[in-house]
Amino acid sequence: MSDIKDVNPAEDGARGLSRRQFMGGIGALGALGVIGGAVAQVFLLPDEVIAYPVSGGFLLVDQKKCSGCSTCMAACAIAHHGAANHSLSRIQITQNPFKAFPYDIDPVQCWQCDECVQACPTGAMHVDPETGVRTVDQLRCIGCLRCVAACPRAVSAVQWSEEGHASQKCDLCLDTPYMDDEGGIDGRRACESVCPMRAIKFTTDLPEQTEDGYSPNLRTENWASFGYVADIEG
Ligand code: SF4
Repeated sequence: MSDIKDVNPAEDGARGLSRRQFMGGIGALGALGVIGGAVAQVFLLPDEVIAYPVSGGFLLVDQKKCSGCSTCMAACAIAHHGAANHSLSRIQITQNPFKAFPYDIDPVQCWQCDECVQACPTGAMHVDPETGVRTVDQLRCIGCLRCVAACPRAVSAVQWSEEGHASQKCDLCLDTPYMDDEGGIDGRRACESVCPMRAIKFTTDLPEQTEDGYSPNLRTENWASFGYVADIEG
């Protein structure tokens, strides 16, 4: 039977390693590797299921409302990097012209699950203790890209930042002001604020989960007020 441990890796000595500690550890692990599988056990904690706090907020994107204009991507990149470069955006909207509506648009926003946090060997990818948001301490990132690979989205919601030489992901604008407003759970998020279709919504409620994550229906009375057909029952 596995132990269930309520852990925040950022505060957990076993995984909350600095970049230097990790690189030092690699040398030791090389020696351990000679004698068998102890290496992986140090970081992967195979006998424990680690339970992380639920995020204090989630972004919902309704692909039936999204027009694929990518304004959200530009806003995200400008807010975090000061440049309207889609490659820097932490929300990715991809379009496939060979698919029929609404599957032609695939919005990839972070689901705030914990796969990337679990995959990170240094504690760089961690759960913010105040908000529960999954975020990155870029000074601890060693560039192993395990978090990028671990993301369950088809296009990873964790990206490698050439600029920061570290992984980056959506943190709901925790440390990123939008105009004169604070970001984060109690503030404004850039992508949500600019979406002309109101296809992005922030919620503090855990979205209904399926095997494929969550796919919201935002076609409510508010949607009808724009003159579109609403799907109130959905
Ligand atoms: S701004 Fe809104 S409509 Fe445009 S791509 Fe982003 S989510 Fe879709």
